[in-house]
Amino acid sequence: MTRVRRAMEAFRAIADPLERYVYLRELQRASAETFYRALVREPLELMPFVYTPTVGEACEKYHRLGIETNGVYITADDAGRVGAKLRGHWDRAAAARARAREGLDGEAAKRRGVDRRARADDGVAVAVVTDGERILGLGDLGAGGMGISEGKILLYTVCAGVRPSACLPVCLDVGTNNQRLLDDPNYKGLRRTRLKGEAYDALVDEFMREMRAWQPRCLVQFEDFGNANAFRILEKYRTTGPCFNDDIQGTAAITLAALLSSLRATKGKLEDQKVLFYGAGEAGVGIGELIAMAMEKTGMSHKEAMERCYFMDSKGLVCKSRLDGLQPHKVAFAHDVEYQPDLLSAISAVKPTALIGVSTIGGAFTEDVVKEMCALNERPIIFPLSNPTSKSECTFEQAMAWSDGKVVFASGSPFDPVVRPRDGVKVFPAQANNAYVFPALGFAAALTGASQITDDLFLAAAESLASITTDAEIDAGHLFPDMNSIRQVSVTLTAEICEMIVKSGLGRAPSGVSTHADWLAYIESHQYDPGEEQPISKL
Ligand code: NAP
Ligand code: MN
Repeated sequence: MTRVRRAMEAFRAIADPLERYVYLRELQRASAETFYRALVREPLELMPFVYTPTVGEACEKYHRLGIETNGVYITADDAGRVGAKLRGHWDRAAAARARAREGLDGEAAKRRGVDRRARADDGVAVAVVTDGERILGLGDLGAGGMGISEGKILLYTVCAGVRPSACLPVCLDVGTNNQRLLDDPNYKGLRRTRLKGEAYDALVDEFMREMRAWQPRCLVQFEDFGNANAFRILEKYRTTGPCFNDDIQGTAAITLAALLSSLRATKGKLEDQKVLFYGAGEAGVGIGELIAMAMEKTGMSHKEAMERCYFMDSKGLVCKSRLDGLQPHKVAFAHDVEYQPDLLSAISAVKPTALIGVSTIGGAFTEDVVKEMCALNERPIIFPLSNPTSKSECTFEQAMAWSDGKVVFASGSPFDPVVRPRDGVKVFPAQANNAYVFPALGFAAALTGASQITDDLFLAAAESLASITTDAEIDAGHLFPDMNSIRQVSVTLTAEICEMIVKSGLGRAPSGVSTHADWLAYIESHQYDPGEEQPISKL
């Protein structure tokens, strides 16, 4: 019996997903190595309980769970001393780790200078920051958004192998407009409405400047900001240092990979696709832009490629007649088509080969919608990506039942496999899990000291991921490699991205590393490995 086995048994004995989440957090606090070992060994089984979908519920109830946060809150009241707060948090965390490692209490550690030495520890490789305004498809969860930063940062360690001690989850607590939270006596975030305008921008700017001054090469991942801020923040900082927005860019890469794999199932060509997006926010627009980039590589003009992507938002089809007052991120996709008020009429007008749901509207892909897609396509591509599960535009079972198993499917949250009605074959849903991409990208950025993260890197990651997926996996419906081999997948992806970063002059190779094989070996030897443990009886 090992501690991991014991932990897995205890975990499996718990039925409620949120209780499983809390159990895993307690395990992380009590025995970090056991926790990481378990996650590295059983990512497919455990990931849904540290990340989507369960993390959504955890964020909603964050302050009622009785958990201690692993990250740092930067609140609206910290304006003017953000740098000190970041450093203070990091130093305390480093000292706590050092004490735990050496088995010392506070006083003894201080006497022996453990705390002081710990402060000189390595720096921050990756920070995930949210302001909690748009957590998954659940909206404004204020300071509860910390759960998403904590959940995402774990995946850098579990999937790619970034050391946990180099990872920093951050939540900018700028207040919340969620009345339920403001009325909740247990809510521990700032009890005020969201900071807006210049005051908001100034706080974000202070955070970014302080991060850059303190940890110039730290990769900053923006996560679950509302879209009114997300696009602007990304544009403002993307050339000032390594950063990206996972909802816009990471989602784009995983979805493009899913599309490329789908085309192997449908025997279609990328240049023949027309994609209708239900939802025109961060995810949709990010995916649309990356698909257009990939199409341009096939020889299409930028304009032609953009005209292969159509969007619906809460007001109907995005089109030229709506340009007046249209939000900036939608403008490039406002094509010269007739306005359509609803999804069914938009499908008839656009005649898409692929339908991508990023609307946060659970159940939006009705039987009529799926059947209309089947009338237009032998094998329609349908990706209901909204999270968590309750927001998914349709379930896997529905897509299979309504299409007689013809839909090529990927969803945001996991679903169970189903038996295909037509032939009794068991088919699997693909999960377009961003965890296939961003951890490898972040690790590559850290290893090369990348100065910027460009869209080309996301395109390369998508193509590489799709190329790793085998025909057998695609035939079974997976569209992605097995999540249980995520570490090996990440090594390959990390190597490709490292090479691309170096080739484009954005970062440097370590000395002695030049070939692909060198990179693979280098990455493997730098992966954090919680190691195999001895059976308890031998300890
Ligand atoms: P967002 O920026 O808030 O965008 C949501 C979009 O949906 C907006 O364009 C909104 O319209 C539109 N919408 C709302 N109600 C609608 C309706 N009734 N009909 C049509 N469109 C409607 O959010 P996001 O970042 O794009 O995320 C959207 C969803 O995708 C979330 O559930 C998120 O969890 C999921 N997601 C999944 C993955 C993944 O699977 N890997 C990754 C990232 C995000 P307006 O513009 O008119 O407001
Ligand atoms: Mn997100």
